[in-house]
Amino acid sequence: MNSLPLRSIYVGGRWTAPRATGTIAVENPATQRIIGEVPDCGSEDVWTAVDAARRALPGWAAAGIEERAAALSALREGLVKRQDELAETVTREMGSPITFSRRVQAGLPVRVLDGFLAELAAATAEERVGHSLVVREPVGVVGAITPWNYPLHQAVAKIGAAVGAGCALVLKPSELAPLSSYLLAEIIDGIGLPPGVFNLVPGRGATAGVALTVDDGVDLVSFTGSLETGRAVGAAAARTVKKTSLELGGKSATLVLPDADLVTAVEDGVRGALLNAGQTCTARTRLLVPRARLDEALDVARAVVADYVPGDPEDPATLLGPLASAGQRERVLAHVAQAARSGARQVAGQDLANGLPHTGHYVAPSVWADVAPSSPLAREEVFGPVLAVLAYDGEDEAVSLANRTDYGLAASVWSADQDRAVAVARRLRVGQVDVNGAKFNAAAPFGGYKQSGVGRELGRHGIQEFQEVKSLQLPG
Ligand code: NDP
Repeated sequence: MNSLPLRSIYVGGRWTAPRATGTIAVENPATQRIIGEVPDCGSEDVWTAVDAARRALPGWAAAGIEERAAALSALREGLVKRQDELAETVTREMGSPITFSRRVQAGLPVRVLDGFLAELAAATAEERVGHSLVVREPVGVVGAITPWNYPLHQAVAKIGAAVGAGCALVLKPSELAPLSSYLLAEIIDGIGLPPGVFNLVPGRGATAGVALTVDDGVDLVSFTGSLETGRAVGAAAARTVKKTSLELGGKSATLVLPDADLVTAVEDGVRGALLNAGQTCTARTRLLVPRARLDEALDVARAVVADYVPGDPEDPATLLGPLASAGQRERVLAHVAQAARSGARQVAGQDLANGLPHTGHYVAPSVWADVAPSSPLAREEVFGPVLAVLAYDGEDEAVSLANRTDYGLAASVWSADQDRAVAVARRLRVGQVDVNGAKFNAAAPFGGYKQSGVGRELGRHGIQEFQEVKSLQLPG
């Protein structure tokens, strides 16, 4: 990490000095030590990067599918080679436990690239509609704005789609976790992508992020982050009628049907809530159980939570690290205090709150029962290790509760009868549903209904999000 060119930005295929003179300090949220400083770029650096991307665009847009596939494969290989370093960097910049970082923070991007490779031909295929030939072309220059919770994955999801679609891209990573993007840029520098197809400009949302969003040279803004910022990005991009792709928050549910294996379902539901200390857009932070089995479910939840002792994220045995920043800790504690005031009952995690490490932005996990469906805990994204358990009295009520938020990102449904689970899954207004614990598919479309976002990422749909469609009417 010390060898990364952190004083530079990556523009036009080389590391270059930024115009910005200020820097942003990056803190390790476990030790609270500063582990790096990156440039605090403003509009001028963004303009330079967008210019470089525009110059690279015609050449890359004309590249054949083999050349694009070769670039994606080379990137995949580069990520695999430096997987340990990538995992360690993510752990140090945002606090994810190292075992999770290896498997997901650094492992998932590899699977994401596999998904793009598998779907590249289908994503770019032309079709006939009557006397028209319908062709797919790159949308142009993509402005990619990413958050801190899965910093590498979110960057790779956008870069892979851009490279596959034939676009050029400017990435602005989160100011909290930009270091893994530097490592990623170093890898990309070594794969022979034409200069300017990928550019990295770190900075703050209010400056670099806004500049990228309003720049005339950007054709599409691909944003992942909070609902509030997503609304601002969408509104700002609308001024130049830019396309926007928004991956926002969630309040996802684990729905346990009465005939399900309750222990397995609840164990999975609790783990799904505490994933990455709850800092996951698809975190299943609501557990819906049949009223008659509520007490049984709470016992299982308590037993699972006991394993999530907050600890050093660099220890391979740690399941729960610190939150990513002091600000995030404050936001989560405010949600917890609000839950207690609202009359919800904490049923797990109290003992863990007494043994938190003295340094670091730690929050103990907590599980809450007697949560009113209209309360903020049941409806708002907490983005911390906090689970709300709600009891229901019949399948219709379960579905209605699951759908009763402004979000619509993900869910999981459990039943002994898979057809029944699938039927319930179809009634949920969300972008993805795991049936009976089926695992994440990095080639399947990912995105949200309702205020969880606009558009889809990953696989064929992710590449197509970065394309325009043109109809050529052909005579006779
Ligand atoms: P944001 O949504 O504000 O940040 C996401 C990205 O957008 C960052 O790169 C940020 O820059 C950038 N950004 C911020 N403001 C603007 C803007 N006006 N125009 C363009 N880009 C902008 O998330 P935060 O990090 O502030 O986290 C706040 C809350 O959002 C969290 O508590 C959590 O609840 C939620 N969140 C949800 C995520 C999800 O995946 N659902 C992901 C991250 C956060 P920078 O941070 O560098 O200033």
